[in-house]
Amino acid sequence: MTDETGRRRSNNLILDTALLDFYAAADDMHLSEGLISILSYPERRVDVSVPVEMDDGTVKVFHGHRVQHSTALGPSKGGIRYAMDVTGQECEGLAMLMTWKCSLAGIPYGGGKGGICCDPTAMSRKEKEKMSRTYGARIAPIIGRWSDVPAPDMYTGGQEMVWIMDTICKMLGHFEPAMLTGKPIDYWGAPGRTEATGRGLAACAFELMRQKGLDPSKMKAAVQGFGNVGSYTAKILNDAGVTIVAISDTTGTYYNPKGINVAKAFEYMNTNPGKRGRKLEGFEKEGCEKLGLDDVLFVDCDFLCPCALQGTINKDTAPKIKAKYIVEGANSPTTTEAEPILDDAGVIVVPDFLANAGGVVGSYFEWAQNLQGWTWSEDTYNKRLVELMTNNFLKVWQYSNDKKVTMRRAAYIAAIKRVSDIVELRGVYL
Ligand code: GLU
Repeated sequence: MTDETGRRRSNNLILDTALLDFYAAADDMHLSEGLISILSYPERRVDVSVPVEMDDGTVKVFHGHRVQHSTALGPSKGGIRYAMDVTGQECEGLAMLMTWKCSLAGIPYGGGKGGICCDPTAMSRKEKEKMSRTYGARIAPIIGRWSDVPAPDMYTGGQEMVWIMDTICKMLGHFEPAMLTGKPIDYWGAPGRTEATGRGLAACAFELMRQKGLDPSKMKAAVQGFGNVGSYTAKILNDAGVTIVAISDTTGTYYNPKGINVAKAFEYMNTNPGKRGRKLEGFEKEGCEKLGLDDVLFVDCDFLCPCALQGTINKDTAPKIKAKYIVEGANSPTTTEAEPILDDAGVIVVPDFLANAGGVVGSYFEWAQNLQGWTWSEDTYNKRLVELMTNNFLKVWQYSNDKKVTMRRAAYIAAIKRVSDIVELRGVYL
């Protein structure tokens, strides 16, 4: 579908948000209409059916996708998610975001994304293994260390990566660990990768505090989502003295204005048998108040880190946000309509593809080590990650202050410029 000027639009919220953000920045930089239309479509999209014999003997066919938005800068890179709202178009939008994320981070990748429409919380381990392996086999023709390098995303982790990689390696007849990242540490993974997204997010928050002359020990933060990104963000901020006043998961918000005991929340999450996404259920008995699902967004705090789903900061929730700084951990948590509401209220937003790039930067470190057959120490990994994330933050911060544009717009302009320059350099096939 296109708008009245012929530009691509979509009914899918993530894809449409990605397109609108891209057009706004592209117009600001006077990008040619030819480049705009090239970059508004993915280079390649593969849709696969994934039949699985379920534990009860019935056969269920799941729908999976893998999208390569751009390979202008290098192999496409991006996660694979298991969730009920996964569609081909959603993957297209997320793959586009990955192109900007990798470009802005200065790493040698294009953007990709994949996923399967399913409810992983309602599936057994065996069912998930069969689904992951069949999906892996069906996307195998387009995956490889120099073509497309997947990684974990929502509801996937090291185990899913091993199932997918093991299947593809068996088909190839040789071992190829650099074909995907986010592997378990003992199986060609990289020490540091698990915490990498949270560490990168916290590095952006700390640099923002430095630029604003704010003392971390006087700051209060609320973190939405207590999965891999949210939990480590809360922990790393807290370790540096930031008071975490609220955390949340799909069971609700857990609030304590004097500070949540984050170490206890970690311990609780690791021992609570609740299903994935419901690990904080009952945490109110550990000395905090339980509030509604969205309330984490509205509590009194300085920093808000949305690390859960897309679109949680929208035209209805944005006016109620009290935080002055938002550092986005989730992909696409803020809708296009919410952006001007936050801007008018003077809220500084560190955009997703800058703030949450720690995951893919960490993936790049893993891939580079795999290609060399070499392992860095965790300390080296963490130092390089924080240095790269801080420098990227400063680049965008500087541009946004110099040109008086939001950080999101500044980040888009820098990211699009690197990709469009290379597309022009390489040329369009005749
Ligand atoms: N899924 C993560 C993201 O959205 C990591 C992707 C990767 O490491 O390739 O950034």
